[in-house]
Amino acid sequence: MDPTLPEELVLLQRTVRRFVEERLEPLSRSIEESDAIPRGAIDAMAGAGLFGIGVPEEQGGAGFGKLGYCVAVEQLARTNASLWNVIGGSSGLCGTAIAIGASDELRSRYLPDLLGARRLGAYALSEPGAGSDAGSLRTAAKRDGDDYVVDGAKTFITNAPIADLFIVFATVDAARGAKGITAFVVDRDTPGLTVGKNDEKMGLHGSTTAQLFFTACRVPSRQRIGAEGTGFTLALRTLDLARVGLAAHAVGAAQKLLEASVVHAKSRTQFGRPIATNQAIQWLLADAEIGIHGARLMVYDAASRADRGERITQRAAITKLYATELLGRVADAAVQIHGGIGYMREHWIERAYRDARIYRIYEGTSEIQRLVIASGLLADA
Ligand SMILES: Cc1cc2nc3c(=O)[nH]c(=O)nc-3n(C[C@H](O)[C@H](O)[C@H](O)COP(=O)(O)OP(=O)(O)OC[C@H]3O[C@@H](n4cnc5c(N)ncnc54)[C@H](O)[C@@H]3O)c2cc1C
Repeated sequence: MDPTLPEELVLLQRTVRRFVEERLEPLSRSIEESDAIPRGAIDAMAGAGLFGIGVPEEQGGAGFGKLGYCVAVEQLARTNASLWNVIGGSSGLCGTAIAIGASDELRSRYLPDLLGARRLGAYALSEPGAGSDAGSLRTAAKRDGDDYVVDGAKTFITNAPIADLFIVFATVDAARGAKGITAFVVDRDTPGLTVGKNDEKMGLHGSTTAQLFFTACRVPSRQRIGAEGTGFTLALRTLDLARVGLAAHAVGAAQKLLEASVVHAKSRTQFGRPIATNQAIQWLLADAEIGIHGARLMVYDAASRADRGERITQRAAITKLYATELLGRVADAAVQIHGGIGYMREHWIERAYRDARIYRIYEGTSEIQRLVIASGLLADA
């Protein structure tokens, strides 16, 4: 446990860790094999307050702030990553967009259900033709009386097959580029909205991802978040906060992989001695420890700054990039240290290795994080 955290967050850390070990980890293998998360697991996470950890108490959350959210997420990473992915898509992305951008009316209509997981949310920004360049999205929202008529498609949307509501980013005027992008909350049962089939993925089995199709989908104007043209700023502000949560998950996942690697290195004997006595193995362990320590401090720093109301675009990009690339290296080292057994489906390390790959792609690829970091540097110069 970390001495730099205030006492209530150390307590939160212990409580979430126990919950993860006792209630979630026993489900991990069956989630992987069935590619489905039982509803009971989502309800259990909601019952433990995990969908509302970082949200202020006045908005119905637990009030632990972004730092508390990251502390909890780090512990949630000690089990199958798909479980947290449900929370990340619902509260982390959809809930955050509503919490920071929506009117009181929309907040009170949606946030309590999202934070209690009575309804699940998703965040629909990416499109078949607009991934890294999300500002060029083409889904159109044309004003028609008191409604907007939405046409277009979204792709790779986490939680889409199970979500009850979607934050949808659409343009009211493609000629205005990113300045035409506007955000809406769209209920799943809105006529004209259909959800595609669950995508088959390399990892994150259990977490669902699908396309959304909008065909003359009428969305009442009261469902708009903020003013017309403010959607892209909302998308980026939401991603700033979500990226720190994702980095926290990468830190927790790397920590668990390192702990397992230490245990294996000490117990596996070759050439008459534990493989841990080889400097080649020790350096893999040492490099993982160094990286995890640095990434954890970055997460705490970025989350604390967010809690103080600072804009954290640069820090979030640095933290997401560092922590997720670190996880890639630690997962690779963990498989190497485990040797053949690390490559076998029977060992959870094999799953963790595949799950680790997505962190460098979603919520902005590593290349896009570097663009954000560099453009901040050059703007200040
Ligand atoms: C499992 C999963 C879940 C997801 N969940 C969601 C979700 O809930 N909501 C949502 O909106 N989206 C979601 N996404 C989409 C995700 O955010 C995008 O896949 C990601 O942003 C990359 O976009 P792309 O796939 O179109 O790749 P592209 O943008 O086509 O990029 C391909 C490659 O080119 C590189 N590249 C692109 N532009 C540049 C540049 N200017 N300089 C250097 N390199 C560049 C990229 O870094 C990447 O390596 C999810 C994706 C996956 C796989």
